[in-house]
Amino acid sequence: MPVSSEREELATLVTSLRRHLQRQDRVGIRFLCQGESPPTDSLRDTDVNLLSGTETDLFSNSSETYKAKTLEELRAAIGDCQRCKLWSGRTHIVFGVGNPKAKLMFIGEGPGRDEDLQGEPFVGRAGQLLTDIITKGMGLRREDVYIANVVKCRPPENRNPEPDEVASCEPFLKKQIDLVRPEIIIALGKFAVQALLQTKAPITKLRGHWHSYHGIKLMPTFHPAYLLRNPGDKKLVWQDIKKVINEMAGSSA
Ligand code: SF4
Repeated sequence: MPVSSEREELATLVTSLRRHLQRQDRVGIRFLCQGESPPTDSLRDTDVNLLSGTETDLFSNSSETYKAKTLEELRAAIGDCQRCKLWSGRTHIVFGVGNPKAKLMFIGEGPGRDEDLQGEPFVGRAGQLLTDIITKGMGLRREDVYIANVVKCRPPENRNPEPDEVASCEPFLKKQIDLVRPEIIIALGKFAVQALLQTKAPITKLRGHWHSYHGIKLMPTFHPAYLLRNPGDKKLVWQDIKKVINEMAGSSA
């Protein structure tokens, strides 16, 4: 085969593969990167709307949630949400808090009692520990980052959210991530990590390694509430946080 024909064939194959991967990404198929180096592709470099084409999303392209251009519009679109059974036990919807253009986003599991009462994520004892990680550990202010949960209403007795509740609420989180467009996500605890990465792998295997959530670098680590019960593992979280600090320093250099 002439060299020019081989090149054309190769170019066609590469184009087909790229389109195939883009289609998979749009329907929510994610790729895990278990190595130490974070994925190099960034959502900021693309024009991918995390909600577009995802087959499990509950919202049509014409819905107010889908069309929201700001976090305020998204919160307004959520309204007095009753899309899953968690609505009946909540005091407040705990939407999220922080810098709407944050480079760093923390994602936890769901609101606890204090969060439900105050309507803000991570405000109890675990929240204070997270604030210490942000301020004393990372040298940032809480208002520099964005903090949200996988589900926005408190599960009763602080149980794990159930699959139907996650399925109902996850599109809100996807849209939040799409609007904030952070460079790095720190996923806090087994539940948030497994929900975001669509895996059953244990947090002990996932933490400390870079992963990708739709092209956004994602670092899993233990939940602050777990650290309150297991303070000996704080050193492991500090190892994970140092990797994030180094990555942020590298990307801003
Ligand atoms: S958890 Fe999410 S989907 Fe369920 S009622 Fe609350 S806001 Fe709506």
